[in-house]
Amino acid sequence: MKYIASFMIAMSIGINAGAVVDKNFDYHVDRFADIEVLRYEVPEFDRLTPQQRIMIYYLSQAAQAGRDIIWDQNGKYNLQIRKLLEEIYKNNSGDKNSKDYKAFEKYLKQVWFGNGIHHHYSTDKFTPEFSEAFFIAEVNKLPESSLPLQKGETREELISVLTPVIFDPTVMPKRVFQDGSKDVITNSASNLYGEGVTQAEVEAYYNSIKNPNDTTPISYGLNSRVVKENGKIKEEHYHVNGLYGPAIAQIIYWLDKAKNVAENEAQAAYITKLIDYYITGDLKLFDEYSILWVEDTDSDVDFVNGFIESYGDPLGMTGSWESYVNFKNQASTKRTETIASNAQWFEDNSPVDKRFKKGEVKGVSAKVINAAMLAGDAFPSTAIGINLPNANWIRAAHGSKSVTLENITEAYDMASHGNGFNEEFVIDAPTSKLMEDYLYITDMLHTDLHECLGHASGQLLPGVDPDALKENGSALEEARADLFALYYLPDQKLIELGILDNPDAYKAEYYKYMLNGLMTQLNRIEPGKDIEEAHMRNRQLIAAWILEHGKKDKVVELVKKKGKTYIKINDYKKMRGLIGELLAEIQRIKSEGDYEAGVALINKYAVKVDPKLHQEVLERFATLDIPPYRGFINPVLVPVTDDKGEIVDVTLTYGETYPEQMLRLSNDFRTLGY
Ligand code: ZN
Repeated sequence: MKYIASFMIAMSIGINAGAVVDKNFDYHVDRFADIEVLRYEVPEFDRLTPQQRIMIYYLSQAAQAGRDIIWDQNGKYNLQIRKLLEEIYKNNSGDKNSKDYKAFEKYLKQVWFGNGIHHHYSTDKFTPEFSEAFFIAEVNKLPESSLPLQKGETREELISVLTPVIFDPTVMPKRVFQDGSKDVITNSASNLYGEGVTQAEVEAYYNSIKNPNDTTPISYGLNSRVVKENGKIKEEHYHVNGLYGPAIAQIIYWLDKAKNVAENEAQAAYITKLIDYYITGDLKLFDEYSILWVEDTDSDVDFVNGFIESYGDPLGMTGSWESYVNFKNQASTKRTETIASNAQWFEDNSPVDKRFKKGEVKGVSAKVINAAMLAGDAFPSTAIGINLPNANWIRAAHGSKSVTLENITEAYDMASHGNGFNEEFVIDAPTSKLMEDYLYITDMLHTDLHECLGHASGQLLPGVDPDALKENGSALEEARADLFALYYLPDQKLIELGILDNPDAYKAEYYKYMLNGLMTQLNRIEPGKDIEEAHMRNRQLIAAWILEHGKKDKVVELVKKKGKTYIKINDYKKMRGLIGELLAEIQRIKSEGDYEAGVALINKYAVKVDPKLHQEVLERFATLDIPPYRGFINPVLVPVTDDKGEIVDVTLTYGETYPEQMLRLSNDFRTLGY
């Protein structure tokens, strides 16, 4: 599971103790459409040994090597389109200030950011603002040799296939279609299922191979595309001799090098297991790898590399390829270690029914990390927290690893200063002040609690299918983790543990949560549309539920001042009580697999948007020019070689522009054809 920034993650000026921040570091890289591209700093890189830095380099190569996979998973024309757009971009010798060219450049930047032709977040197809005539003329100017032609395809055929894919709004309109009243598979434009495969067929197929009595089930469908061949449903697996083989071969090549400079035997052992899994596609090996990985809490350098999160699949089965390479942020890891070592206390004292609690919370490990490379589905848009592995039985038996990406969070925070958000949306000066002083730390803490306690808490009743909540599983799971975090933020325990120093600090996060859930996150939604993304649904679900259930006691109100709507929290203590109630109910839904109750909650609170309030939020944001979405380019890792050409160390630079980085990646890590 991942935790993504609630987009105004921090408006604070407070930087937590221990973080090394270069005041002159330039975080801003590019700005287009609804996106801002930032860069992040990698503090403490200098404290690593040369061997650790070399390992990070090899793991980073393994990370970049998988880039083409996510592009292809996101849509079957994406790699072709990327190549074509990049060739036009490099070849164009016309007027760079023409309206068409400017619009083309914007579109290419959007496509780079989405790893394909759909928005990374809304999953709606981008709308090009340049003309078809411009596009066709540009394609016709390219030499035959630089066209991304499929075998036997002509230039004319290429144009006739790709033009509607790019321009026709009715063709492949949505990457992840989630409206459960229709077929979510045939209506999704992603490439995770073959042509003509229906939702009913996929569900029947998995039901036929799942064994309900298996207590250690593989993660069905995690590394495969379900296709129909001669009317028969089957899986095509991702492995070195299967789908995405050439990319996987490159990943294996670099993982093998990383293995040879691993920090310790345990780490080398799980890298070996991961390689074996990539060779065979055997999900049992992936589980074995996950167990070895989760049990290694000593290594400084760490990474994720594989088909991991399933948000891109409307049925939540197939994993999107991603990679993170990172190492411990020593200064802040202390905080999460304190939380993790008290996991049992938090579990025992939660407001959840005893039957749904874990009797023994196992091996929740938590650390704060610095990202050194983001790739695949984690790039350019990335998470600020990750909790893995995702397999429920492994989490129950072996625990999970929870990480907070401190340098990413920091970059968000630093890049947000002085953007006018607080002045526009926060109700009064004292609340603003509280947020300035405590939002950074409570936001970090919220992420820690969400990842390392929230997702790890609770248990299913015996025999309950972990996928019982179906299309609402992701949103309800995120709600459960958020509620767990929110419930504990005001707890005296955090002060006893020395993590917070002010009993009112939590109010900063409570205020932000309600503001974001009821109002400001709507800036990410186009007028007239519903909320679809799981984390956004979760936030509105919680905020709207609290608003309604606190109505009688006026716990939280929407008030008007000079025609503008504000959130007013009258009773923070009662708000905590409501959070506890909802946590207990959502845990019950999950533990019992109560699909119907899940549907009812989601439909009532999480999906629909008040059009008037939505309009108001959009208008108020428009005056601020704050980008709704942000993401990152990576630093460039440069190997230092001796006179025999052996890598002896690695340095790190930050200077690339967004297009430079994207073109370099396309050139250096082109593994799947074009
Ligand atoms: Zn989460």
